[in-house]
Parts: sequence; structure tokens; C-alpha cells
Amino acid sequence: MAEKVLVLAEVRDGELRNVSFETIAAGRKIAGDNEVVALLCGDQVSDFSERLIHHGADRVLLAEHSDLKNYTTDAYKQVILQVLDEESPDALLIPHTSPGKDVAPRIAAKLNSGMVSDAVDLEVAGDEVIFTRPIYSGKAFEKQSVTSGLLFATLRPNNIQPLEEDPSRSGETSQVSVELKDLRTVVKEVVKKTSGGVDLAEANVIIAGGRGVKSEEGFKPLYELADVLGGAVGASRGACDAEYCDYSLQIGQTGKVVTPDLYIAVGISGAIQHLAGMSNSKVIVAINKDAEAPIFDVADYSLTGDLFDIVPLLTEEFKKE
Ligand code: FAD
Repeated sequence: MAEKVLVLAEVRDGELRNVSFETIAAGRKIAGDNEVVALLCGDQVSDFSERLIHHGADRVLLAEHSDLKNYTTDAYKQVILQVLDEESPDALLIPHTSPGKDVAPRIAAKLNSGMVSDAVDLEVAGDEVIFTRPIYSGKAFEKQSVTSGLLFATLRPNNIQPLEEDPSRSGETSQVSVELKDLRTVVKEVVKKTSGGVDLAEANVIIAGGRGVKSEEGFKPLYELADVLGGAVGASRGACDAEYCDYSLQIGQTGKVVTPDLYIAVGISGAIQHLAGMSNSKVIVAINKDAEAPIFDVADYSLTGDLFDIVPLLTEEFKKE
């Protein structure tokens, strides 16, 4: 068991991301009864400290600075390296999110440490921690352990079960004395392309539209269904290429990788590159008018028919729930 595990928690758009709790739960597996320390970077993020403790952190380090409000490689790398130096943990876990994917390899390179990237599970076998990660676009899994330097991994969101929130847990919160030097980039302004809604990467329910949706207008029934189910809307690359929606919605090999509880593929054929981004979803429902569409091979529930009939019917039915 590691004596001390440092985990990076994540705030985005003023909200603590669920993956923070998942990463703490993974840290707890490695630390056992030893210490799990959560590092939270941002600007005025102290309100989140208690929730991190209630979800299993023993101690929270707050790195607060206006230049940490939005992620930049330079600033986050400096803070993480500083905290690693001050805390000397045995293990470091970072969410495999856009910021995590960017900063983690830089930390590993700087420390000359091994790193497992994009793990979906881990097991502790004696002194060894074995991580499971998908390969070949999710068609196979391999097991990896870190054999040099810090025990270090990034964890794919939505795969590790967070610990149950326990409001009776208490822990210490302290400030990191942030000294950012020679930042090569700072974020001046963030201009959002999409408006609010549920974050695709963390959504429990995703309604994804493909070229079968036929137009930007055709996505409207999908948004209505997503609203009723409290989910997010995603898309195939076919739909993005056809300009029915923004590329930020693209799911697949060259888009986002998602693992929601429920994935509803609407008018999507099921190309291998699309499956790479969603085939590990817990329950897959496919709606397609072509009974031979390959998406049905991975679907738990197959609805053959016209999406413009089926999607509004589903919305009506779920509204009654
Ligand atoms: P289509 O294959 O055209 O399928 C449309 C489906 O809609 C059909 O099955 C049709 O039967 C159905 N349909 C039509 N009308 C209706 C209706 N009224 N009701 C019900 N069903 C209807 N794709 C991705 O999605 N994500 C990626 O990340 C990705 N990366 C790629 C990377 C590379 C290097 C390459 C070469 C390709 C990549 N692709 C990716 C593209 C991929 O190969 C497919 O072209 C794409 O996924 C097809 O999108 P689609 O299923 O929406 O469209």
C-alpha cells in the first residue's frame, strides 16, 4: 500500500467535476488506510474542499490563483511539480480529461517517471498496482504497471465508482503557496461555443445523432429527449462533417470517448471509428431504419424504424415517468 497518494481534482465552469471523486476513490484503493491528498487548482475554489473530503480525501491542498482559473499547461505543470516536491507522495493520479491528458505526460517526462495513460480500472496486488486500459479503439484491454519512478496514472472519467459521500468525514484543508513563474501563456477570456447543458464527458445519458438526423433542425428532437432524460447530446463524425452540429459533440476515435450509463445512437450506422468512442457504454440503444446497420451488433436494445417517429415517442413516454 502506498503511504501517500496525491490526486488531482478538477473544477470546470465553476463546478467540481465528478471525475475528482472517481480519482479519489482510485487513490483510496491504492492507499488503503493511508493518506489520500487531493490537490485542487483554480481561483477561489475553497468551497469545494469539504466535498472532496466527504468523498474520501484525507487532506485537501488548494492552489488558488487568478492564473489557475482556466487551465494552462505552464501554470498547472508548475503547481503540480511544486506540490510533488513538497509532499513527496508515492503515487499520483490525474483525471484523463483534456487538461489531464495535456499535463500528465509533461509531469512524467519532467520526473523521468513511468506513467499509465487512460486507465479504466486498477487492482492492488501486494506491492504492485495493475492498471487496465483499453487498446485498439476499445476492442481489447491490456494490463500495465509502472516500473520506474512515481506510481503515476491518468484515469478515464466515468469508469471508477466514486465512494459514497459521507458528510461525517473530516479532514484538513491548507493553501499551497502558489508561485507562478515566467508563464508563457495566460487565458484572457473564454468564449464558449456551446451553451451550457450537461457535459458530454461526464453525462450519464447521451443521445447521439448521426447523418440520419439529416439537418441541424433534425437534432431538435434529440435535444428534447436529452432534456427529459437529463442527458447530453453527442454526434457521429458524419453529422459533424455534414455541419448538422459542432465538432465539440463528436464521439469516436477522433472525438470524445464516453462511457455513460445509457447511450442512445440515433441515425448512426456504427462505423468502427464511432464505436471506438462509445462501445463501453453500459446500456446501448440504437435507432436505425436499416435493420442491417452495424450499430445493432453492439446495441443492447435495437429499435428498427424512422428516428423521426421513434424519438418523439420516446420523449412523450419518458415525460410520463
Ligand atoms: P452514416 O454512416 O451515413 O449512417 C447514417 C445512418 O443513419 C445509416 O445507418 C442510416 O440507415 C440511418 N438513417 C438514415 N435515415 C434514418 C432515419 N430517418 N431513421 C433512422 N435511421 C436513419 N466517425 C465518428 O463517428 N467518430 C469518429 O471519431 C470518427 N473518426 C474517424 C477517423 C478516421 C481516421 C476515419 C477514416 C473516419 C472516422 N469517422 C469517425 C467516420 C466514420 O468512419 C463514419 O464515416 C461515420 O461515423 C459515419 O457517421 P454516421 O453513422 O452518422 O453516418
